Amino acid sequence: MVVPKKQNIWELLKKELLNQEEKKWYYSERFKKIEDKFKKSLIDQKTDDALNDITVWALVLWSSDVHYETFEDYVVVRFRIDWVLVDIFRLTLKEYKPVLERLKYASSLKLNITNVPQDWKYSLVIEDRDIDVRVSTLPVWSNENVVCRILDNTNSVVDFDKLWFFWTTKRMIEKAITKNTWMILVTWPTWSGKTTTLYTILAKLNSREKKVITLEDPIEYKLEWIVQSEVNEKNWFTFKNGLRALLRQDPDIIMVWEIRDSETLETATNASLTWHLVLSTLHTKSAADTLDRIVNMWLKPYILASALDTIVAQRLVRKICPHCKREKERTQLEISIIENMMKEIWMSSIPSSNIKLYEWAWCDKCNNSGYMWRIWIYEIISLNEDLRILIREWKSAEEIMRKARDWDLITMKEDWILKAIKWFTTIEEILRVV
Ligand SMILES: [Zn+2]
Repeated sequence: MVVPKKQNIWELLKKELLNQEEKKWYYSERFKKIEDKFKKSLIDQKTDDALNDITVWALVLWSSDVHYETFEDYVVVRFRIDWVLVDIFRLTLKEYKPVLERLKYASSLKLNITNVPQDWKYSLVIEDRDIDVRVSTLPVWSNENVVCRILDNTNSVVDFDKLWFFWTTKRMIEKAITKNTWMILVTWPTWSGKTTTLYTILAKLNSREKKVITLEDPIEYKLEWIVQSEVNEKNWFTFKNGLRALLRQDPDIIMVWEIRDSETLETATNASLTWHLVLSTLHTKSAADTLDRIVNMWLKPYILASALDTIVAQRLVRKICPHCKREKERTQLEISIIENMMKEIWMSSIPSSNIKLYEWAWCDKCNNSGYMWRIWIYEIISLNEDLRILIREWKSAEEIMRKARDWDLITMKEDWILKAIKWFTTIEEILRVV
């Protein structure tokens, strides 16, 4: 039996599992239906209907964006489904012209301006759901590309229990948000769905006894009883200036959409030190990455140690299709790799037989991809006095993480293995992401 060297386990597993995987293309009979209906509306000169339909289909297929990508003599309409871009159909340039014009008109963009990027949004109601479509155009060499982000108000706030926290991580978050002070950072690489997490936390915090105030870019969803403001760079209402204005409004809880510079970080930290609960986000990959990043933004470690309470690093991974999931026979090599991997992340007490490997299956419900919807995986550090001492002593993020393991830290890898054991997602999927 081959026992791989420790440092090569992840690479080996990737090679073993991802190489034997067939190239999976999303495809569904429904794509043809979407195309036919769209083009028929165009022939009937009902462009509004065409755009309405495409938005409905995007929602049906759980996609976040519709892309119109122009080439020399055709345009591809693509959906981002569970973060993967999928070609749905093609348009001729002639068919695209009224679509482009209508999208620009609907979202109040200037029709005659084609050589600079523009962006704005329009709203529509589909089966009692308020949908916002944020349209952004980009001049490309011969034409304009359009990306429409679809924001479904009904999806933005979910039940706290539906955020896919395991009970240990859930307990940490619940503890953190019931405090009156401190700072909570949610970190996210692109496509991690931070909107839902933040809005869900805000909705949970919302009470008439507290003033909850936000500074966002942009306001994606309106939450009742929460004071929401939006940055406007042109009018100097930036994160930096805006945060100071927010503090003059006597808030209890502040949510700053994103910390991009050291001054915003400093103001946010000071706010948490002066008896406010501050929620914010940073664009980082992991909890360790976040600690590194904050120190590199010149925040003094002793201030960081006194202000920061919790880091929630999160990612979205595709959820296995419940309709066609199928267990696969594991090879001896795969078993030994998995056993070693479990050992590496201190989980060898869990029998490796619990880890199932997934076999490629076909079904129209998941557009023949094997995946349907997404789930979150997390890495959460809750700082305690031991960890604060390490931060004050300017220890490396790695050392802090190692110490955090003595406490409650569940790393992202552990969280995903636990979720793969429960068969919410697959090992293959997470290998692609982590
Ligand atoms: Zn399926």
